[in-house]
Amino acid sequence: MEYNITNLLIHFKTFEGLSDRFVHCYTRGYDDSGKDFDFTRKSKEDDPRFMENIRVLGDQLGFKPSGMAMVLQMHTDLVKKVTHADTFQHVSYDQLAVWDAMITNCKGVILATKHADCVPVYMIDVQNEAIGLAHSGWKGTLNLIAPKTAEAMKLAFHSDPSALYCVIGPSICADCYEIQEDVYRLFTQQSSYAKEYIKQIGSSWRLDLKGFIRESLIRSGFSSDHIQVCDLCTGCNKHMMYSHRKSKGNCGRSLAVLGIRS
Ligand SMILES: [Zn+2]
Repeated sequence: MEYNITNLLIHFKTFEGLSDRFVHCYTRGYDDSGKDFDFTRKSKEDDPRFMENIRVLGDQLGFKPSGMAMVLQMHTDLVKKVTHADTFQHVSYDQLAVWDAMITNCKGVILATKHADCVPVYMIDVQNEAIGLAHSGWKGTLNLIAPKTAEAMKLAFHSDPSALYCVIGPSICADCYEIQEDVYRLFTQQSSYAKEYIKQIGSSWRLDLKGFIRESLIRSGFSSDHIQVCDLCTGCNKHMMYSHRKSKGNCGRSLAVLGIRS
């Protein structure tokens, strides 16, 4: 198994040996009893549940909720360098700005992005003790947010892409991810290799986001044996995960979490 599933969390084998220095997980939408574990936060009214779930998560992984940093995800290709000043110790949820990826080398900072089908891309630079986490839906994938996250790590922390360990996390699979002609055209016009990750079925297409992201990272200098593609599909596992597509937009949000222990 390339991943380990507990009652609330999913952990990746690639990062297993690093757990004394780095915190990571993808949260399940529902636990074994069917109770939800939702990180939706639309307004202040959601705060008690949202903060309680972050507290539960912190207890399980061993971090302080005040050390968590989040962004207002809008399917951009913007990568933010995060420090302690950006954590919930210093900013409130209502003050979050629009970015879709974060990098940091600060001990005790826990990066978190929200997902329901969109791909979380986790990166760890063991040598320089730095991390990156990207939210990559089709727009972010088209605009290469994952390679841009690695580039930002290189600029900020001298991270060598070939030394980064990467997990392409739970997200929608190619069979579940139907796209129409507009998205098909954007990908095939912009990328020389997109066609390898798109197949036509009748009058529509299926896009393999995870495969495309993997290829874009290898083309940016990642070592293929440092990239783990998690085959868990959010759409195929509705009992356990949130799927925007399969729920027709009516579902909660999971958190992808990656942090450096203090
Ligand atoms: Zn699927």
